Amino acid sequence: MPTSGRPKKLIVAIDGPAGSGKSSTAKALAKRLKIPYIDTGAMYRAVTLQAMRDGVPFTDKKKLAAIAKKARIELKGSDPEKQRVFLDGKEITKAIRFPELTKNVFHVAQLPLVRKEMVKKQRLMGKRGGAVMEGRDIGTVVFPKADLKLYFEATPEIRARRRYKELLRDGIRVDFKTVMKDIQGRDATDFHRKNSPLRRAEDAVLMDTSSLTIEETVDKILAIIRSNSLDGFKLGKRDRR
Ligand code: C5P
Repeated sequence: MPTSGRPKKLIVAIDGPAGSGKSSTAKALAKRLKIPYIDTGAMYRAVTLQAMRDGVPFTDKKKLAAIAKKARIELKGSDPEKQRVFLDGKEITKAIRFPELTKNVFHVAQLPLVRKEMVKKQRLMGKRGGAVMEGRDIGTVVFPKADLKLYFEATPEIRARRRYKELLRDGIRVDFKTVMKDIQGRDATDFHRKNSPLRRAEDAVLMDTSSLTIEETVDKILAIIRSNSLDGFKLGKRDRR
């Protein structure tokens, strides 16, 4: 394992169910490591949005695959906390977060041809500058040889509570029961779909975030990175405290 300099770009793969703390942690971690944050869920959401805007039925696999292939999805902004999502040059950051869209993403995400296109784009993005990449199949499919693989989990109640707070913070009005149902529904489809179901890669470190704050989770991950001297990756001054 190389120990000096920065020979290659670090890839941290984070998978886990909705609300397990992946996004908040991945953003904070990317900031500390000074590498890009890549939200692959936003990419599946972008394809879903385009399909809904075009009135493409979710049964039309060919058209959905064509949308996925053609979509120019960009994640912009150097601050992961303020990342903005663009589809074919137009901002869709907020449009992809609405509950009506969220409940449709699984139709698109279960299609092998859509996944193939997304994985291709994700690999290119990750190879460009390294990444903290989060999703459902990052450690199992997109980057099975990632420098570090993490699998997040938390109880469904805690995950629904977090998601509920996030939606309210983003100005989206929902009731808790609906959010809980959404989380359970998404678990059912993410864990049990035929193609790339959500599962923990054998070599992924399990992080139960139920009773951890974001800061505590990030510190645990940085400790793992440090103790493994991951490919000589140099942590910033602040990270050596
Ligand atoms: O991460 P987020 O909750 O925004 O993802 C939305 C949906 O996109 C997930 O419920 C899942 O069905 C799908 N997804 C996926 N593979 C990924 C990321 C997200 O299937 N790598």
